[in-house]
Amino acid sequence: MKKVGNKVVVVGVGAVGISYAYSMLNQGHCDELVLIDLDTKRAEGEARDLRHGMPYAASPAKIYVGGYEDCADADIVCICAGVPQRPGETRLDLIDNNLRVFHGIVTAVMKSGFDGIFLVATNPVDILSYATWRFSGLPKESVIGSGTVLDTARFRVCLGNEFNVAPWSVDAVMIGEHGDSVIAVWSTAAVAGLPLKDILEQAQDGQERMDKIYNNVRNAAYEIIEAKGATSHGIGMGLSRISNAVLHNQSIVLTVSALLQGEFGEEGVYIGVPAVINRQGAARIIDKPLSEDEYARFRQSAELLRGYQRKVEDFLAAQG
Ligand code: NAD
Repeated sequence: MKKVGNKVVVVGVGAVGISYAYSMLNQGHCDELVLIDLDTKRAEGEARDLRHGMPYAASPAKIYVGGYEDCADADIVCICAGVPQRPGETRLDLIDNNLRVFHGIVTAVMKSGFDGIFLVATNPVDILSYATWRFSGLPKESVIGSGTVLDTARFRVCLGNEFNVAPWSVDAVMIGEHGDSVIAVWSTAAVAGLPLKDILEQAQDGQERMDKIYNNVRNAAYEIIEAKGATSHGIGMGLSRISNAVLHNQSIVLTVSALLQGEFGEEGVYIGVPAVINRQGAARIIDKPLSEDEYARFRQSAELLRGYQRKVEDFLAAQG
């Protein structure tokens, strides 16, 4: 049957995938939502549960459990499948298992004839975005990782709390690895239009407050996983925001994982940076000037990721 309107496929409907699905439907971002999971019983249960919310959703949507053939005419395939972080594990510890999972999924999606946008959430998200780009053969713009979209949201929430304004009035980003080497871009951050660095540098306890905010953001996932077993709603809403920008061709700037080709002085690495998101995907990277210290940290983060990207190349070489 020919699709009507925007069609989104979610692969992996665990904690993250289902929060994304719920957010998409609540905000009326898509007309057709397909759920795919190895655990089809669970996926059927989720689809049924979501359908029962339709009378109260922002707009109607067709929701069902499908197969990879359903990706053929999808606008977005969002991958949230894989092994999640357990307490004490870093995101990078997940690479070997999730590379195998991704090779199977991306190959099956591409076999359907898919030519839309891949949105990757599974960790380590920067490496798996690179893997999705390499496995799919799609243009780099068509493969977006959620990158530091969640770190940026956490940063804005913390700064909003610190200065008693809503996060919408905070203009600040986090870039680099979605992981322990993430970078807070203090040099251009502003609250209610006021440069933050000046405010904090003039305050006696400025450095202490900056360190506290940074650690709060960097450690948030570990603390939430410790408390409830997974992080899901923040990332679900972030993925939904990226999808809305794609589906409605919004050209808004979000910090996602995208492939650098000279921007920020880096080449051939998927990493969290501000990018213009529209129907093309990550259409353009905003090559934001950084302070010397931020550039140095960014280089380190990129170097770390490049090292892990080699695992993807080794994996591909082993496939022949
Ligand atoms: P989960 O275990 O709740 O869900 C994973 C789902 O994937 C399960 O339902 C499982 O059956 C399914 N799955 C596994 N292999 C599959 C395959 N080959 N095909 C189809 N489905 C398959 O995990 P979760 O908490 O939802 O986390 C999912 C991923 O998202 C993890 O890697 C986690 O680290 C990551 N994550 C990323 C961010 C981010 O900011 N990017 C934030 C939170 C979590």
